[in-house]
Amino acid sequence: MSNRGDRTRQGADGPVSVPETLGEALQILRKHPSLQIWSGGTWWSQPANRDETGEILSLHRVRELRRVVRSDIQVEVGSTVPMERLYTVGRRFLPQLVVDTLHQIGPPPLRNLASIGGAICIPGTILPITACLQMLDARVELRRQGNSRWVTLNQFRDPSGGVRIAPGEILTRVRIPLHPWTHWSLHNYGTPFPVGTESLAVICAASIDKSEISEFRFVLVMNGTSQIRLREAEMDLVGRSIPLTERESRSVIGVLESHPYFGSALNDIGRWRASNGLREFLQKLR
Ligand SMILES: Cc1cc2nc3c(=O)[nH]c(=O)nc-3n(C[C@H](O)[C@H](O)[C@H](O)COP(=O)(O)OP(=O)(O)OC[C@H]3O[C@@H](n4cnc5c(N)ncnc54)[C@H](O)[C@@H]3O)c2cc1C
Repeated sequence: MSNRGDRTRQGADGPVSVPETLGEALQILRKHPSLQIWSGGTWWSQPANRDETGEILSLHRVRELRRVVRSDIQVEVGSTVPMERLYTVGRRFLPQLVVDTLHQIGPPPLRNLASIGGAICIPGTILPITACLQMLDARVELRRQGNSRWVTLNQFRDPSGGVRIAPGEILTRVRIPLHPWTHWSLHNYGTPFPVGTESLAVICAASIDKSEISEFRFVLVMNGTSQIRLREAEMDLVGRSIPLTERESRSVIGVLESHPYFGSALNDIGRWRASNGLREFLQKLR
């Protein structure tokens, strides 16, 4: 490792930089933009995901990245906040759908380490919590030395699962809107880890105002690698009176079932679970 004049340690996996502040972390990254970033390190801990030769920047000591700040309309969560802490603190005020999604992630020891920023930044992988936050219009802050920008999670994650982050940049905060969703549902089948094994998450949310749908969201996450959003159908449902007619429900389910991924990424049971999850949710809107 080059002499960085920063805090480095010789760990089992090679040299590790351990900055104490965000400023220090950004400075190190400016000089060494290709460092592997470790947050909770659970993803990296799997040998298949690790580049043994790469040097590491660990964020676990950076206190600025461990904050949770709430206002009336949103919560800003530091990227290294572990899922378990976000669940414990956030269950008083986060949308219940987010709380439920956090609660269903792996076993508690994993949730104590795995961070919200780490989950969002895994390339080529779509975890249910990422899809859920994306569906609920969360935004992320990306910083590099001398520059910071906020983008939507939709902009940050490209449809094929890649992450749009520039060399030398880190994800520092996640902003979750505190929208009052009146209806939601979450069905997880199998585990999205390891990625590529058979798994399915069916996630829905809606807001009803004066017997009309004012917001509707739906996402299907398949095998941790692909997702289906029904943006046009979502918009089409806004303004409809509840309960929906059988014909209206069938039309939305038809849009899902005609999606190219629906046929290619799911087996018979998966297809049934996805259609049924959506159907049950639509029937629940009363
Ligand atoms: C045994 C096991 C079981 C699991 N079970 C589940 C499950 O049931 N449900 C589920 O949803 N998930 C599951 N997972 C996946 C788990 O949720 C992820 O491994 C975790 O969220 C990643 O977070 P992390 O903080 O550990 O990330 P890390 O391992 O530290 O990093 C993950 C990736 O993000 C990048 N990164 C991290 N932080 C930043 C940042 N601030 N800026 C830029 N890039 C960054 C890293 O470079 C790396 O590419 C499981 C994982 C394991 C190991």
